[in-house]
Amino acid sequence: MKPAPFAYVRPARVEDVLAELATEDTKVLAGGQSLVPVLAMRLGRPATLVDITSVAELQAIDRAGDTLRIGAAVRQRAVERSDHTRSVPLIGMALPFVGHRELRSRGTVCGSLAHADPAAELPAIACCLAARVEVAGQNGRRWVDADTFFLGAMTTGTGSDEVVTAVEFPVARPGQGFGFAEIARRHGDFALAGVATAVTVDADDTVTAARLTGFGISDRPVTRDVTDLLADGPTGPAELRPALAELAAEIVDTGGDAHGSTGYRRRLFAVLAARELATARRRAAATAATAAAGTPEAAA
Ligand SMILES: Cc1cc2nc3c(=O)[nH]c(=O)nc-3n(C[C@H](O)[C@H](O)[C@H](O)COP(=O)(O)OP(=O)(O)OC[C@H]3O[C@@H](n4cnc5c(N)ncnc54)[C@H](O)[C@@H]3O)c2cc1C
Repeated sequence: MKPAPFAYVRPARVEDVLAELATEDTKVLAGGQSLVPVLAMRLGRPATLVDITSVAELQAIDRAGDTLRIGAAVRQRAVERSDHTRSVPLIGMALPFVGHRELRSRGTVCGSLAHADPAAELPAIACCLAARVEVAGQNGRRWVDADTFFLGAMTTGTGSDEVVTAVEFPVARPGQGFGFAEIARRHGDFALAGVATAVTVDADDTVTAARLTGFGISDRPVTRDVTDLLADGPTGPAELRPALAELAAEIVDTGGDAHGSTGYRRRLFAVLAARELATARRRAAATAATAAAGTPEAAA
C-alpha cells in the first residue's frame, strides 16, 4: 500500500518545528524507519509531516563534562561511528543489534526513544543508565528521566505539540562496568528478550550500585536496582540465577506469541540477566584496577 496524501515541511529551527506542531494533525518525522511503514500500512494518516533532520541545533553529538548529549536529528549510524560513543560503552554494545546498518544509517537515537517500542534496545540502555530526555514545547523545554519517559507500548508522555530535542547519557567512570545481551530469532530482529546492566564498585572492590534493565519482556523497559544482590555474596551467573528467576516471574509479563511463551521469555531473561550482571561486575573490577594502576583506559 501507499501512504495517504500528506503535506511535508522541513523547518530549520526548533521554534519553527514547534509552530508547525501547534497546527492540526501533524507528526514529527525523524529517520522515518518506523513512521514510514506505519504510513504505508495506513495505520496513521497525519495531514502534515514535520521533518526535523534539517534543524542544525539537533544535529550535534557533544561531550560536555560528565554527559554525552545526542541531538534528535543524529542518526544511529553516526553515533555508532563517533569517537564520543566510547565514553558510554552501553551505546556501542547495543547499537549493532538495532535492525541493520542500512536502517541505522537513517534512524535516529531520539526517534527510537520517541517511538517507544518495548523490544527496542535504545530505550532500555537509556533506562539502565538513568539518561534524561529533553523535550521542547510551547512553554519551553523540560527534562524527563528515562525511567518515567516510557508510559507503555509505543507511548511516551511527549505531547503531539512537543518534540524531543536531545538525550543525555552519563559517561562511564572508572569502577563502572556494563553488559548487554539479547536473543532474537535472527540478528536485526526485535528482541524476544534482552538485558542491559551497569555495575559500580569502589576502591575496595565493593559493589556500590547495580542496575538491571529488561526489554522485550513487558510493555516498556523495566529497571531494577540489584545492588543488594551483587553486594551480598558470590556473583557468578550460576549463583545469581535463582534470584533472577524469581525477579523474572515478577516483571516479565509479555504474553506468549508465535515466537515464544511468557515462560520462555522468563527463562531467557533470567539467564541473560545473570550472565550480563556477572560480566558487568567483572568489567567494573577491571576498570577500577586500571584506574588504581594509573593507566588511562576507557571503562568498558
Ligand atoms: C525492518 C526493521 C527492523 C527494525 N529493527 C529494529 C530493532 O531491532 N531494534 C530497534 O530498536 N528498532 C528497530 N527498528 C526501528 C528503527 O530503529 C527506527 O529507526 C526507530 O524505531 C525510529 O527512529 P526514526 O528516527 O526512524 O523515527 P521515525 O520513524 O521518523 O519516527 C518514529 C516515531 O517517533 C516519532 N518521533 C521521531 N522523532 C521524534 C522526536 N524527535 N520528537 C518527537 N517524536 C518523534 C515520530 O513522530 C514517529 O511517531 C526497525 C525498523 C525496521 C523497518
